[in-house]
Amino acid sequence: ADTGVNCQLKQTGCFGFCAGEPLVMLYQPNRPLLVYSKVDEKDASHIIDSLIKNKVYLKKILCRIDEWDFLTSEVKFGTDYTDIPHWNETPFFKGQTKIVLRHTGLIDPEKILDYIAIGGYRALAKVLTNMQPTDVVDEVLASRLRGRGGAGFPTGTKWSIMQKAQADQKYIICNADEGDPGAYMNRNEIESDPHMLIEGMLIGAYAMGASEGIAYVRAEYPLAVKRLKAAIEQATAMKLLGNNILGTNFSFNLEVVEGAGAFVCGEETALIASIEGKAGRPMPRPPYPAQKGLYGKPTNINNVETWCNIPVIIEKGSEWFKQTGTEKSSGTKVFSLVGKVKNTGLVELPLGSTIEQFVFNIGEGTGTSKRVKAVQTGGPSGGCIPLEYFSTPVDYESLASLGAIMGSGGMVVMDQDNCMVDVARYFLEFNSAESCGKCTPCREGLAQALAILTKITKGEGTHEDLTLLEQLSQTIRDTSICALGQTAPNPILTTLKYFRNEYEEHIREKR
Ligand code: SF4
Repeated sequence: ADTGVNCQLKQTGCFGFCAGEPLVMLYQPNRPLLVYSKVDEKDASHIIDSLIKNKVYLKKILCRIDEWDFLTSEVKFGTDYTDIPHWNETPFFKGQTKIVLRHTGLIDPEKILDYIAIGGYRALAKVLTNMQPTDVVDEVLASRLRGRGGAGFPTGTKWSIMQKAQADQKYIICNADEGDPGAYMNRNEIESDPHMLIEGMLIGAYAMGASEGIAYVRAEYPLAVKRLKAAIEQATAMKLLGNNILGTNFSFNLEVVEGAGAFVCGEETALIASIEGKAGRPMPRPPYPAQKGLYGKPTNINNVETWCNIPVIIEKGSEWFKQTGTEKSSGTKVFSLVGKVKNTGLVELPLGSTIEQFVFNIGEGTGTSKRVKAVQTGGPSGGCIPLEYFSTPVDYESLASLGAIMGSGGMVVMDQDNCMVDVARYFLEFNSAESCGKCTPCREGLAQALAILTKITKGEGTHEDLTLLEQLSQTIRDTSICALGQTAPNPILTTLKYFRNEYEEHIREKR
């Protein structure tokens, strides 16, 4: 204010380039949006000064954004700024396809009007005025969208089963219990664009005949909880939630339930138990939640990113959506790229992009003289993939063929200094601590595997221990009740498969 410049300071969510924070975006009417990175106090005053002098402050400039609508890539502004790279010409954003993240960093997540101004709730209006519930399910089926929470089950199939279920009450749930170490995609999606999630859930509720919804968000995400609650209040005030939405006879209420931080509550049946106020322990299936879920009623659970894909599928159509990704895995996937990599952040690429594209094209490798050694995908239950497999496409089947999983989207890069046996032990310790203890293979097996692995990392292991560790891991994988136990041995099995020499070295040290 004391500079006399007529400008407004707005908060936004995160634009995704974590390594470049703090980011500042400068918007002036009829000019491209200028993005500055690693801005400090001095830069901030230089930016203000540039406004007064009607010049462009070039130091610390990262890129320009010509178009606000990432889906059309329409250039709306002049070409006076061609010396400044366009956002998708910079290494971090080159090749990224922003669908789920298309608004993040560009709108104020605490203002519903910001969301409406960029076309928000248009898909809901289309559904309520022009589509029958079965049309919506058919469109989602045709899009071939698969669950982004890890398992990759076709979303349309899940919705179709739920739609056909007969009950006086049905529930839909958003699983925002993101607990993988190094993963924060869902957190950013809620913190930066909460109305997109609400709109996706509204469309799902209409399609499946649910009038009640719950967003189960981990309590360790206070900003996400705060922004989602604020967004629900604003949507309710504008009659986009509650009774007779947009003047129709469709009604839907949404509430936020905070999870207490148990990793296993990401599993559907444990999550339902937790909402009901019981201990968060998985139940054997069947019955599936679509048959008997929350309070015994048919329930559909999708994760944050799956719900966030829904509005754009409805608005642009399944044919448009399928143009991105692969035959079996359509659309994009958001990953949090972290660890020993230069450009950390949230990366959204078409499914089927290679690991190499993530780590070397977007991430630019380690950024040091050290060599990249491996990536770990899928959180603590994922697998470690060595450099020689980096040409593998990132899709559900290809990662599974390597013994890894997509998970919800964590991608941790490791360099030559990382001991893969220590890495396996770290994830095993996490999984063992998070086991709910209900079934013996997971409860006892993981504890025993951890004891053997600890012995090996201390240089006290034998070749018999290696054999026992491998057999025990396979037994835990094959006999545990839920996905936590079934996938917990993945880090051991993949490191034994691809980095056995490192285990051997620990054993040789003993001699
Ligand atoms: Fe609990 Fe593990 Fe059994 Fe799952 S596999 S039910 S987390 S003990």
